[in-house]
Amino acid sequence: MSFTVHGLPVSQGIAIGHAHLVSHALLEVNHYHIAPRHLAAELDRLDSAIANVEGELLGLKAAATAAQPHSEVGAFIDLQRMMLSDPVLTDAARARIEEHNYNAEWALVQQMETVVEQFRQIEDPYLRERQADVVQVVERLVKALLGVPGHLPPKRKDGLGTVVVAHDLSPADTIGFRDHIAGFVTDIGGPTSHTAIVARNLGIPAVVGLHHIRDLLHNNELIIVDGTRGIAIIDPDDNIVEEYLLRRSALELERSKLKRLRDTPATALNGELIQLFANINGLQDVAQIKETNADGVGLFRTEFLFIDRDTLPDEDEQYETYRAVLKAAGGKPVTARTFDIGADKMLAGKSRDEPNPALGLRAVRYSLAEPKAFLTQLRALLRASAHGKLQIMMPMLAHADEIDQTLMLVEKAKEELRDEKIKFDEALPIGGMVEVPAAALALGMFVRRLAFLSIGTNDLIQYTLAVDRGNEAVVHLYDPLHPAVLRLIAGAIQAAQRAGLPVSVCGEMAGNAAYTQLLLGMGLRSFSMHPARILEIKQQILRADLADLVPKVQRLLKLDEPARIREAVEKLTG
Ligand code: PEP
Ligand code: MG
Repeated sequence: MSFTVHGLPVSQGIAIGHAHLVSHALLEVNHYHIAPRHLAAELDRLDSAIANVEGELLGLKAAATAAQPHSEVGAFIDLQRMMLSDPVLTDAARARIEEHNYNAEWALVQQMETVVEQFRQIEDPYLRERQADVVQVVERLVKALLGVPGHLPPKRKDGLGTVVVAHDLSPADTIGFRDHIAGFVTDIGGPTSHTAIVARNLGIPAVVGLHHIRDLLHNNELIIVDGTRGIAIIDPDDNIVEEYLLRRSALELERSKLKRLRDTPATALNGELIQLFANINGLQDVAQIKETNADGVGLFRTEFLFIDRDTLPDEDEQYETYRAVLKAAGGKPVTARTFDIGADKMLAGKSRDEPNPALGLRAVRYSLAEPKAFLTQLRALLRASAHGKLQIMMPMLAHADEIDQTLMLVEKAKEELRDEKIKFDEALPIGGMVEVPAAALALGMFVRRLAFLSIGTNDLIQYTLAVDRGNEAVVHLYDPLHPAVLRLIAGAIQAAQRAGLPVSVCGEMAGNAAYTQLLLGMGLRSFSMHPARILEIKQQILRADLADLVPKVQRLLKLDEPARIREAVEKLTG
């Protein structure tokens, strides 16, 4: 009998296939004691499992980096390789074998539980999620100890794919599966888990957080993964399969139609050109500018250079990365945001004990509290500006002082470089992000000091509605269409335009086709988004009647009944 399980949609698309259950080795380990005379052999067994897994991971890394040279997958695999030699994990497991005579599997799983418990205490959600990497490494080790063969599913010949069903998958597993599977579903995991990121990069439909999905179906049973809605349909009847086959073809058709828009200029019906920029996290994403023919980079989240590593990148390393991004952008403008560290993006080992991290020392506040690191980044950015069209943007501004202090630091960096006879772009534009309601409401002090603005709707919504954007318990209150949010966005766009300042939106709203007409009607002419969204938004722009939208959006902005606002926004999109 067909039934549906709900989870978290982490990678869009539809997969229809037969289930391939991946065993959860950790649940299946035996516990026994080793006789003292066999202890040395047991330790050897552990060492050779570690060496085997090291070899497996190196092989996977080589395959992954050959396919996608700049992808972050290599770094994820390295993180797991580092864990193999981390004394907290493997030395402590050795000690359990020596001191308690545990068999190697038991020692590893016990030590893993201790380490995972320590991770669970960490407040920072990003670091907390790294516990999954510990579990995945131990799972690989246990499989090596047990001699369980690698779990690559066979390629199918019946035209349907294979859907991997696992308790959890490591990024390395996901890479290993990629040519064999149509989609995957897992018991655990969240949208920011590395596995989810890898699935999105590879374009594999995936739903995670399905709790006990492994217990709900058998090997080979038919399953549909709807990575857009976040559901898995187990044992679907013929009608449902038929419906999903149609939806999958429609999606494929839609995708190939969208691809044809790559070289079409993003003009509205009246011929006005709208700018479409890409949001990137690093060099590995720049290739997508070419793929989608974006106008440049509207948001380069530079903090991804700083997090998930033990030492901070020095000036030269940063310079090389920024220069490489500019070079890869091929003369198109790149807007680099100075590092937005704090809240959910902490540096390795620097989790700060703040009761309200989202309201604490993050973004420009953090930068100004660490002037040395900030100056290093500004110098690196300025040096890179000699090699392309760079702009610098500050996150989360609320006070004129923050702008003044940053501009003073930029001036200091410029003076130093002039003294050192190092070239940079003297006219490099400095802009800021509107992410706090205070900024949107008092934009005068921004427009007098800055060269351009970008509205970060993700944070603007969080701070306007007092809803932690990372807290699942209040996710239903995170509403982009709340009248207060809409009025702040529209007000900021209009104030910037009155002052003659370029303004864009770079939060998730810019990449959501349901809001394109609304933002155009507010006067927005520059959007920045995940590159995968660009062609879909372009499609919306091509059918936009700007003159018609303006009065409709003005009327909509006066509404304050949520249902009526929603209805009016839907009508705009038609
Ligand atoms: C935003 O807040 O909208 C934004 C683009 O910044 P981030 O999502 O990186 O906080
Ligand atoms: Mg933000």
